Amino acid sequence: MNRFPLLRSATVRAVPLLAVAALAANAGTAAAATPTGIGDPNFPNIGSAAYDVSNYSIDLKFDPSSGRLSGTTTITAKAKQDLKAGTAIGFDFLLQTQSVLIENKPAKYTLGKDKLAVTVPVNLPPGTEFTTVVAYNDIPSRVQNAAGARNWVENAGGAIISNEPFSAEWWYPSNDHPTDKATYAISVLAPEDRDVLSNGVETSVTQNIPGWKRHNWLSKAPQMTYATFLAIGKYERTGQNSGTPARPNLNAYATDLDPTIRANAKASIERTPEIVDWLASTLTPYPYEATGGVVDARMGGFALETQTRPTYTDGFFRRGKNDSVVVHENAHQWFGDSVSVATWKDGWLNEGWASYLEYLWSEKNGTGTAAEIADYAYATSTRINWNVVLTDPGPADVLPAELYTRGALAIQALRSAINDDDVFFRLIREWLTKYQYSNAKIADFIDMANAVTGRSTNALFKTWLTDKGKPAYKPTDATFDNAKRAPRSTSPAPAKPKVWDDLYATVTQKQ
Ligand SMILES: [Zn+2]
Repeated sequence: MNRFPLLRSATVRAVPLLAVAALAANAGTAAAATPTGIGDPNFPNIGSAAYDVSNYSIDLKFDPSSGRLSGTTTITAKAKQDLKAGTAIGFDFLLQTQSVLIENKPAKYTLGKDKLAVTVPVNLPPGTEFTTVVAYNDIPSRVQNAAGARNWVENAGGAIISNEPFSAEWWYPSNDHPTDKATYAISVLAPEDRDVLSNGVETSVTQNIPGWKRHNWLSKAPQMTYATFLAIGKYERTGQNSGTPARPNLNAYATDLDPTIRANAKASIERTPEIVDWLASTLTPYPYEATGGVVDARMGGFALETQTRPTYTDGFFRRGKNDSVVVHENAHQWFGDSVSVATWKDGWLNEGWASYLEYLWSEKNGTGTAAEIADYAYATSTRINWNVVLTDPGPADVLPAELYTRGALAIQALRSAINDDDVFFRLIREWLTKYQYSNAKIADFIDMANAVTGRSTNALFKTWLTDKGKPAYKPTDATFDNAKRAPRSTSPAPAKPKVWDDLYATVTQKQ
């Protein structure tokens, strides 16, 4: 994710009192008990440890005139526990549900706080693959989750759902945690004058009903719930097979963008295949089957690393072209989407690295080396709250600005302490290879850094990620022996790198 400082307000439909009152009453009679979550330390009720999803087949109709979303989601999952008939399992979901079938048998269900609790109607021993079909019909823009968020954003043109850490519950039932990745088949029927965009590759567009078209999207690589998006509206599409090797590349620009912003966005997004090729040469081969980007003013003040096709708010392109944000979101295809957080305490693994890849892009382009940018950030760091603990920012904001700023400085400190780019980039590649399509914790990275460097990086990471307060030395003065090293931060602040304003005009202004 990357936040833009100017937050925009979303168009939200009014919530009739009737709809709120009806919410709790809708049930195929009550499920047995409230299911427990997957055990994330920041969000204990989210997700489920009872099953592991392998595929979501989402089959929906969206009517922009009413804001109504209806259809079914078919979930293929494997039981991870002994789910005897009568056991309650949970799917993270907010929408009015019509029916639930498990293995073709009607299941009792209750729609509670952020959770569709379903009573398993048949015995499912551990390891059993089972199919759940949930039918639903609701107006997602009227729905807020337990935390008060309304992440389904709509205007007269259509709707977009793309958010972190939570977006799935506004449009399909899921195991909404990064540790349960799955493949996706997303099929959406919309008026023929609206486009429908999602992740992966569009396999077909069909027309069986006059005035309506069905768009079918397929994501073949494992994908997280929060990296899955849906956009319905009027877009200009661009792109063709590009990159090395050639991949389907599809970009889309909302037709209501300001013309200058559209031009600036194109000057950035159209470079996606080139930027992905550079990332692949710096990191490891690109992990996915397609590339692209979507620019839409309805994205509420941020950009998100939606898998294969990042989504960007228009604000990133107000000042001019902005290839840094394209680097950031595509770096997340490796750091975030392929190698994903094991818990919502591990956000540094995503944001620290995506931010540092922006520094490396500047280094390649001669607009300031990563070392120069990091030292300048350290010297002029009034915007960084040095008391945010990057290894545990807390549930109120799992992605604070400090993960991006201090988080990138921590990586420069590591690179400076290693003082050997062959070793530094070998560590990156081993990390991305070992945990590809999987999940990891910050502690796993520190373990690997210790193994690859043959040194203890523990003290360095304690200083830069965990200890409160500004480290006593600038990133490029870092060594592995912090205790023995005299602070040398008295050197004058370096000159402002040329890329600086491009980088930090697009990061949140929060202090
Ligand atoms: Zn990010």
